[in-house]
Amino acid sequence: MKKTLRNDLILIISLIVVLVGSLLAVLLTRKKNNLVAKIYVKDELVQTIDLVKTNDTEFIIHGANGDLVVSIKDHSIGVIEANCPHQDCVHMGFIKETNRPIICAYNQVYIIIEGNSNYDLSI
Ligand SMILES: [Zn+2]
Repeated sequence: MKKTLRNDLILIISLIVVLVGSLLAVLLTRKKNNLVAKIYVKDELVQTIDLVKTNDTEFIIHGANGDLVVSIKDHSIGVIEANCPHQDCVHMGFIKETNRPIICAYNQVYIIIEGNSNYDLSI
């Protein structure tokens, strides 16, 4: 009788541990999941990329005056090739902060990261 009670207690405690553990995991992933890059061309949202789930990808964005090659690596986004004269967007490198957008004025392309982290400084 005593032994069964002890086993039940162990079962209940392990259940609580598993429950709290998975709850914490859900909370932590949800917080991280809120990091998305949004790409605008001529004030129109053309692409939304989840920076947590996407990694090591390259794709082309059709800007107002030409194409830009956008790359995603290490959960950050950057323009690696563009036809604009000053190459400002390429020189901005890779971003992962919500308060530092990539702008290509020549192609009217605007890349911004949105997220719900504690360090979020939305404009
Ligand atoms: Zn540019």
